[in-house]
Amino acid sequence: ARIVDAGSDTDERQVEAALRPKRLEDFPGQTRVREQLGLVLKAARRRGTPPDHVLLSGPPGLGKTTLAMIVASELEQPIRITSGPAIQHAGDLASVLSSLAEGEVLFLDEIHRMSRSAEEMLYLAMEDFRVDVIIGKGPGATAIPLELPPFTVVGATTRAGLLPAPLRDRFGFTGHLDYYAAADLVTILHRSARLLGLEADEDGIAEIALRSRGTPRIANRLLRRVRDWAQVHGEDRVTHIAARRALELFDVDERGLDRLDRAVLEALCRRFNGGPVGLSTLAVAVGEEPDTVETVAEPYLVREGFMIRTPRGRAASGLAWEHLGLTPPLDAQS
Ligand code: ADP
Repeated sequence: ARIVDAGSDTDERQVEAALRPKRLEDFPGQTRVREQLGLVLKAARRRGTPPDHVLLSGPPGLGKTTLAMIVASELEQPIRITSGPAIQHAGDLASVLSSLAEGEVLFLDEIHRMSRSAEEMLYLAMEDFRVDVIIGKGPGATAIPLELPPFTVVGATTRAGLLPAPLRDRFGFTGHLDYYAAADLVTILHRSARLLGLEADEDGIAEIALRSRGTPRIANRLLRRVRDWAQVHGEDRVTHIAARRALELFDVDERGLDRLDRAVLEALCRRFNGGPVGLSTLAVAVGEEPDTVETVAEPYLVREGFMIRTPRGRAASGLAWEHLGLTPPLDAQS
């Protein structure tokens, strides 16, 4: 598995759960979103009513699920967790909605992947706290309106732009999560090391932070690989050398680019002469889904200045050529 993939195996999920901050004040980074969300929640608590629905967007691993859980714990409410792909029929959503308790938080991960019919039901439910339950089939079917107690939806998406406007408009608060600064990752890594019972040197932690693609999930995962390396080499400490060696072994380079990132840049430069090239052509060249290239690799490559998005497709920057140790063609150097 790719080292930056979303956690899939149970072990990984358990560690992730253990490393999740539980309160807003323990959540480093994302200062703006944190402050804004803090205000929204505080005001709702004072009024004693559920807050506006919350939409969180941003690349995988930046803390959307963690923040959803924090919303619930700050409101002292239970949380129900489901995801767009799990809700294929409006009926699936109706049964979730009709079983919500008053004030409960409903976390909908990958909300952009819900079916159209479920989407329509959701935005009515978010606005009017009501669902129409359809009884029977065909011409004899009847819709029975069902009142719902007020609740809070926290939606998460890697692609806010894919949400239809009527659904997006039902969220009173939208927070966009951006990649973390290295200093915030250092804070997160120190906390994780402490929770894992690991001694860590400052320069070891700094090395991991610099190579984590600005992503806490990756930082935590690399920390565990560095721990493995250190332990196998008879040391129970995250040192600089352990960090460097382990990260080399797992194909994470000095800029934090991993195998997929480099494959994308290699394809852009070597096969397409620097581009521009369309997303799907590029995805085929690296053997990945266009969605993975677009939501996982591209945002970071663009942000770090390796890739450029143009109206005609994706192109490699001078930095990309340099990073791969290649010479750009003359017409691309201007
Ligand atoms: P997303 O839902 O955006 O994919 P998650 O909320 O599942 O991301 O976060 C992935 C991992 O990263 C979790 O283990 C979580 O503990 C950690 N994490 C994310 N953001 C932070 C943060 N600001 N501080 C500490 N840990 C974080």
